[in-house]
Amino acid sequence: MYKSYQELVQTEKYLRLNEQGQLVIEPPSELKIIDFHTHLSNLFAGKSKDPACKGKKSTYPTLPPVEQMDLSQPYWTNRLHKPYKGITGIFKFSAHGLKILNDMVDAGTFDNCFETMDANHIQKAVILPISSAKDDRSLAALQAAARYPNRLIAFCSVHPNDPERQGKVQKYKDMGAKGFKLKIPDMELNRGIGSLVALMQECYEAKLPVLFHTGSNVQEDDPDVAKPMKRLLRCTRTELYGDLLAQLPPDFTFVFGHSGIGEYKLVAEYLKQYPATYAEISAQSAESIKYLIDEVGSDRLLFGTDWPALPQALTLSRVLLATQGDETARDNILYKNAERLLYI
Ligand SMILES: [Zn+2]
Repeated sequence: MYKSYQELVQTEKYLRLNEQGQLVIEPPSELKIIDFHTHLSNLFAGKSKDPACKGKKSTYPTLPPVEQMDLSQPYWTNRLHKPYKGITGIFKFSAHGLKILNDMVDAGTFDNCFETMDANHIQKAVILPISSAKDDRSLAALQAAARYPNRLIAFCSVHPNDPERQGKVQKYKDMGAKGFKLKIPDMELNRGIGSLVALMQECYEAKLPVLFHTGSNVQEDDPDVAKPMKRLLRCTRTELYGDLLAQLPPDFTFVFGHSGIGEYKLVAEYLKQYPATYAEISAQSAESIKYLIDEVGSDRLLFGTDWPALPQALTLSRVLLATQGDETARDNILYKNAERLLYI
C-alpha cells in the first residue's frame, strides 16, 4: 500500500508514470503483446457511444484509492467487499457498477485505446462485446476490427434469450469473429445454466473459443454480505462454469476471463481437468500468475487487461514480474498462446 502513485512507481518494478500522469510500463526488452481482454465504448448492451468520437480520459473507478491498493491480491484490493454490507450494499454495489460502466463508455474510444496500447507496447487487442437479449453488440465489434484490422480482433456476443439467436454464432464467425464473449447480467442465471449449454454447443460447432467473465470481487462467505447480494453475484461464480464444462465436449475451448479473480486456484483445478480450457489473467497479481504457471504451465495462460476498466500497465507489470528469468513463459502468456488460439 502506498501514499501516492509516485510512491507506487518508485516501489514497483516495470511501472512508471508518463507525462500525462498515467501508469505505463517500462519494458525490460522489446516485447510482442496481444491484449486478450479489451472493451470499446460501443460494445456494451444498453449503453453505447461512437468510439470514433472524442472521449474522456478514464478515471478508473474500478481501482481502489492508491492508499488501499494491495498489489499482492488479485484485483489489487482486499477491501472491495467491505462497503457492500447488508441490503443497502446492493444499492451501493449497483451505483458503483453504473459509475464504472459510464466511465468505460466515456473513455473507450479508438484514440484512447491506441494511445494506451502504444504507451504499453501492446500491438493488438481482442475487443469483447457484451450483448443482452435485446441489444446485440457483435456487429459493432466486427465493424471496429474491420476498420483497424492490424490492431483489433473482434469477438461476437449472443445472449441465450435473444429471440433472433438462431444461426447468429455461425454468421458472426463467417463475418470474421474470432471468438465469443458473454457476461450474463445479474440474476439472469438464477434458473440454472440450461439455456447456456445449447448456445455453447453452437460455439463449439462453429469452432469459436468462448470467454466468460468469471469470479466475483465480493466475498461470498462474508457474513456481512446479504443473501440477495450473493444471489446477484451467483452468475460470476467460477463453479458455475465448471458445471457448464461438465456438460460440453472435452475439447470445447473455454477461457476463464480474469482467471476467476480471487478463485484462481479453482480455475487452476479446472484447467487440469479440462485440457482445452485457458485462463485469461486480467486483474491477477504477480503471485497468483506465478501460482498458475507453477500449477498448469504457461501454455494456456493469456494476457488481458480489461481496459478501459483497468489501466493496462497494472496486469502487464504483474506478468513481467511473474516471468522474470523465464522468457518462454513470458512470450507464451503475452502473445504466443493468443496467436495459436486465434489462428493469427
Ligand atoms: Zn471485461
